[in-house]
Amino acid sequence: MTTPQPLSTWARNISPSPTLAVDAKAKALIAAGEDVCSFAAGEPDFDTPQHIKDACEQALRDGKTKYAATPGILPLREAIAGQYADDYGYTISPSQVVVSPGGKYSCYLGILAVCSPGDEVIIPAPYWVSYPEMVKLSGAKPTFVLCDDTTEFKLTAEKLEAAITPKSRMLILCNPSNPTGAVYSREEIAAIIAVAVKHNLYILSDEMYERLIYDDAKPTCVATLSPEAAERTITVAGFSKTYSMTGWRIGTTAAPAPIAKALVNIQSQTSSNVTTFAQYGALAAITEKEKTRAALIEMLTAFDRRRKYLHRELNNISGVNCLLAQGAFYLFPNVSSFGLSDLEFCERLLETENVAAVPGSAFGAEGYLRLSYATADETLQKGIERLTRFCGSL
Ligand SMILES: *Cc1c(COP(=O)(O)O)cnc(C)c1O
Repeated sequence: MTTPQPLSTWARNISPSPTLAVDAKAKALIAAGEDVCSFAAGEPDFDTPQHIKDACEQALRDGKTKYAATPGILPLREAIAGQYADDYGYTISPSQVVVSPGGKYSCYLGILAVCSPGDEVIIPAPYWVSYPEMVKLSGAKPTFVLCDDTTEFKLTAEKLEAAITPKSRMLILCNPSNPTGAVYSREEIAAIIAVAVKHNLYILSDEMYERLIYDDAKPTCVATLSPEAAERTITVAGFSKTYSMTGWRIGTTAAPAPIAKALVNIQSQTSSNVTTFAQYGALAAITEKEKTRAALIEMLTAFDRRRKYLHRELNNISGVNCLLAQGAFYLFPNVSSFGLSDLEFCERLLETENVAAVPGSAFGAEGYLRLSYATADETLQKGIERLTRFCGSL
């Protein structure tokens, strides 16, 4: 008997998601009865607001259980287009909106629509873990620009200019950022986008956390920066993080018409529409404005309180340095002073103190931790006590 042939190039080149792996390990320990404090969660700890669940249930009862249009049900695409107009003055037609099975898949479709083998895609690090792997699956090559805490983890126009080569095809930006929580000002991002436009790059603008934002920070819709930016920008957003709907699997893309058409074609052959009745829940998240606003304010109030608490406590630990990020639900402290690699730091932290955190190197930035504060206040408090003890022991 001969052994079966090896797996594909794609299968052999892809790495599994390290954030999901840490989260799974923490959940397994909890299931085994261990008292684990997890800072690894990549999702809000709130339930989906009731009116959204009700709308989905109603859709089920109404028999919305069949295939729907590939890019999403029309009322949802209309509502999303209307929201872009209201929030940012970004006027697009519903045909430029594509609803996909999760924002993760929206990102992947955006990359597949414009990247080919031989292309390069510029990704500022720290980056969201899936971007480089998705780029590799398209056959293109990810190239990285390290943006550390000395520049608030932000890319600059100069750094972008220096990273561009004749093969550069796309820039991926995530604002507010997962994993750092950093939020660019409109001026900062406009300077970057001007360089991208000058070099005729496509821009994948991941605006998943546009509404999870604190203090006086504001989200920027990259496509509204200039007509040239609009022609080149694929905007990804969604319901998962904002409305605590991670399990629903609904992401959105807004893109210039020819790109939107390509996204729909690829989606039509690889996944078809997002679960039909789930889309009616998403529709209620947009149309039942007052209820949604109330739920969002409740979540933001808790996140903001925890953000400030975690930031203060982290900086009280000798050897830890942490910026106060203004978006998402992550802080990204620098722990490089302890003389351990971040991987070792996280492994020992989990082993000795039952505290789960994701090492910065998973996001292309060695020497940091990603701590999610989308977790109960008591867990945060207990986790910080343990982390403080751990750091003291090093
Ligand atoms: C969570 C997340 C997504 C995708 O979320 P889905 O759960 O697939 O909707 C996309 N980008 C970033 C940066 C994220 O954190």
